[in-house]
Amino acid sequence: MTFKDLGLSAAILKAVEEKGYTKPSPIQEKAIPHILEGKDILASAQTGTGKTAGFTLPVLQYLSDTKHPKYRPLRALVLTPTRELAAQVHDNVREYSKYVDIRSTVIFGGVNAKPQIATLRTGVDILVATPGRLLDLHDRKAVSFKRVDILILDEADRMLDMGFVRDINKIISFMPEKRQNLMFSATFSKDIKKLAAGILRNPVAVETAPQNSTAKKVTHKVYKIDKSKKTEFTIKLVKDNNWNQVLIFTRTKHGANKLTKKLISAGITAAAIHGNKSQGARTKALKNFKDNTIKILVATDIAARGLDIPLLPHVINFELPNVPEDYVHRIGRTGRAGAVGEAISLVCSEESEYQSEIEKILKEKIASTIVEGFEPTDTAGPKRAASQSKGSFGKKKKGGNSGSSNQNKPKRKPHFKGNKPAGATSGRGRTGAPKKKRF
Ligand code: AMP
Repeated sequence: MTFKDLGLSAAILKAVEEKGYTKPSPIQEKAIPHILEGKDILASAQTGTGKTAGFTLPVLQYLSDTKHPKYRPLRALVLTPTRELAAQVHDNVREYSKYVDIRSTVIFGGVNAKPQIATLRTGVDILVATPGRLLDLHDRKAVSFKRVDILILDEADRMLDMGFVRDINKIISFMPEKRQNLMFSATFSKDIKKLAAGILRNPVAVETAPQNSTAKKVTHKVYKIDKSKKTEFTIKLVKDNNWNQVLIFTRTKHGANKLTKKLISAGITAAAIHGNKSQGARTKALKNFKDNTIKILVATDIAARGLDIPLLPHVINFELPNVPEDYVHRIGRTGRAGAVGEAISLVCSEESEYQSEIEKILKEKIASTIVEGFEPTDTAGPKRAASQSKGSFGKKKKGGNSGSSNQNKPKRKPHFKGNKPAGATSGRGRTGAPKKKRF
């Protein structure tokens, strides 16, 4: 199948060609025809699958095919969980809309709102936004949702994790009931299904990889290691292998800062990216990492979510995530676009339990290696793991934590329950009744 076979216009095809894409990715092949037909979709897609073009191309096609009033009301809204993802999605929108008469902009918090308000006033067809700032600007009457035809929720699972469900429902309550809804999510928890049930109308399920599976062509490797030797070992790995672009995950912001400092002291260029960094610092760190000015980006889960870092060969989990699905998100950053990637995890004794839970959702055992001089000698973990191995993963455990530090305490982020979305919708209605495939 080619992009032309999907029924996209010459102007859009030209932009796609300029990006160098030769054929649609599986998610694009599956989702684009349904979106062009005006159907709601619930797509299981991780970052790295080409999902952004998967929704942007057909949305641009719709917007350029349909007439808009002169004042250009907002007709398509993309909501994303993080500022970085919003910026990336908008970069894509701009590139793909190069040859069509479509205006777009991006808005997110942490930066001056004035220029955003000014751009919105000029009229945009498609807007990419994070929920908080968007609602703020809506309250200030800088934007209206009354003419929105298409709503796209990108990385919906992460938006739930970050507590955006109320904001999303509020935004939806200002939209027309009749519109098309596209929801993308890497994982499908009960809460995601509930959110989807409230927003989507007869959605077509689009799946490109089995649920919770990681991208193919990723090799997983565990180094069983002493907790106190993780930094030294990371430096050794990077130096011995002469790695030039490595994304490292830590569980805490403090941990990210600490590791970054140590890497820099060891002569390795690095920067940290997390929620306590200013937007300017986050953007700069990502840019420097992408253009190889720095070798290492140390990130927390939320900050790294959705970052488009093409052809990333190595991801190191300095600590395993305490929510196993986060492992899937993390390694979504390697092995993308057909490239082989390596996901390395440094696992100390107290993290063994996390490893087993991750293996459960991966449905495979990860090979473990012990390197001489870095052998695990810490004993706090096995006792705890043994006594709690039946406990539910990711939830607060009862009893002592056998001396493990605060940052290693299993903790699940709160999910918001019981918020019924205000706008149940009936689709844009361009094609009559959509096929039934309900969630
Ligand atoms: P995404 O999953 O949307 O973040 O996209 C991941 C990466 O794949 C981005 O760098 C895109 O530019 C790239 N990409 C998207 N579609 C294609 C395609 N059909 N062929 C090759 N690369 C693509």
